[in-house]
Amino acid sequence: MEESVLIVGGGMGGLITGALLAKEGYRVCILEKNATIGGGLQTFQRSGIEYVTGMHIVGGFHPNGVIYRICKYLGIVDRLTLLPVDADCMDQITYASDGRTYKIASGRNGFINSLANYFPTERENITRYVDRMYEMADQLDHFNLRPTADDLFQFPPEFFMPADEFIDQFTTDLRLRDLFAYMNSLHGAIRGKTPAYIHALLNVFYIEGVSRFVGGSSQLSEALSSTIAAHGGIVYNNAEVVRIAVQDRKITHVEVKNGKHFSADHYISAVHVNELLRVIDSTAFPKSFSNRILSIPNTYSAFFVFIELQERSFPYINHTCYYEQDYGDIWQLEKYTPEWPRSFMYMTPPVANQDEWATHLVVNLVMPYDVVRKWENTVTGKRGAEYEVWKHERVGRVLDRFEELYKGFRAKIKKIYSASPLTLRDYYHAADGSIYGYAKDCQNLMLSQISIFTKVKNLLLTGQCIRLHGICGVPLTAISTVEALVGRNKIIEKL
Ligand SMILES: Cc1cc2nc3c(=O)[nH]c(=O)nc-3n(C[C@H](O)[C@H](O)[C@H](O)COP(=O)(O)OP(=O)(O)OC[C@H]3O[C@@H](n4cnc5c(N)ncnc54)[C@H](O)[C@@H]3O)c2cc1C
Repeated sequence: MEESVLIVGGGMGGLITGALLAKEGYRVCILEKNATIGGGLQTFQRSGIEYVTGMHIVGGFHPNGVIYRICKYLGIVDRLTLLPVDADCMDQITYASDGRTYKIASGRNGFINSLANYFPTERENITRYVDRMYEMADQLDHFNLRPTADDLFQFPPEFFMPADEFIDQFTTDLRLRDLFAYMNSLHGAIRGKTPAYIHALLNVFYIEGVSRFVGGSSQLSEALSSTIAAHGGIVYNNAEVVRIAVQDRKITHVEVKNGKHFSADHYISAVHVNELLRVIDSTAFPKSFSNRILSIPNTYSAFFVFIELQERSFPYINHTCYYEQDYGDIWQLEKYTPEWPRSFMYMTPPVANQDEWATHLVVNLVMPYDVVRKWENTVTGKRGAEYEVWKHERVGRVLDRFEELYKGFRAKIKKIYSASPLTLRDYYHAADGSIYGYAKDCQNLMLSQISIFTKVKNLLLTGQCIRLHGICGVPLTAISTVEALVGRNKIIEKL
């Protein structure tokens, strides 16, 4: 007799958990509220162009890389078309204040050498910094797919010092310090709060090699969905869960917006934990648990500009580009100032048969949710004229920056679309439109540590709010969630 599992949320967390469980012989059913599955893997199409909304770059896909091994185990490697970014320039960072552009190579030595090229007298410090990050990342068994008891608190205090203080130990050069932190927006870093081990882990993960999905990240969600189907599971879209009914600390059934009821032996929540609290019966958890969860700050949100380019007008760039108004701005991302945007990333995602010209360009700009809070009671398409004017004005500012970077840029634009933190909130039901779920604060790490086990006996948690976000974190949490059902280290041992 197969046991059944019902998963709420068809983002990367829900889909990987579902695919692993389906392979283990569980009868898997996933309920996704949107018309398209994938959450942060979702893409949208305009004029035949597939725009990525969340996941733009991935690491861990080199042979024997952590994510490669998971995808291989799930039988989806051949279904994914990835393009590695340029090894000699995985990222380029341009500072408007002095007009300098730094090109950073991938690989441990490449990374060190490219920075040492700009800061020759700092080579030793750069090497010490990179070595220390690698040592830290290597100690985290979970992130290296090693069997583990993984108690975060077994690590020395250096792991939990603020990332900015960790960086400052290695150099007094303010420009180099800034460059050590250029990936901040990839993990929602905040000065004085983000723990050093997250900085180290994310940096090492990407230094080891970055790729991009050709034609969009939705290929990963489609591949995972096929694996689930091949093992007898089912993924429903347009299935928003509006109530999770609980009796005596056990889920009895789940209700979907269209009125249908679903029940299973086990339930897994793969949505933002605030969203779980919104739909689950209020008696499910002790008040103290709900209050703690609701008090955890979220990572910042973002504003997006999607640009369709005129044919053969703008070069395809095979790496991510970062714009910084000045040194120091990288540690001010969460602050919204009148000079917004002072810092952003942009890229030309690859399409099938990519040639030397880009078809489109995507710009991601960090923006705190508070900026749009006054429109939070509105719905897509009906947010009002004031909101539309505001949005139009933000896009204008972004284009002004692009004019600084590429003279005559406006003439290269065919069509332009934009989205605000409200879009993120509404598409993913992510509290405060947060990009990466809860923020980690090394001054109070316990606050954001959420167990995959809950007081509701047949409910487990997964997804980016638990442990770490992104391709670096969500698949590994999915493994832990699955192992809570099939046995500790049972999946890791198979990988
Ligand atoms: C702008 C942006 C850029 C990013 N860039 C990168 C990147 O380059 N590389 C990287 O590794 N990571 C990146 N990330 C992070 C990555 O996309 C996420 O960590 C990951 O996709 C989160 O997966 P998840 O399944 O935990 O959550 P989500 O993707 O949010 O999935 C949750 C799913 O649950 C659904 N849902 C919510 N409520 C309900 C309900 N009541 N009933 C049914 N379904 C519901 C949602 O619609 C959604 O599909 C980025 C994220 C964002 C937002």
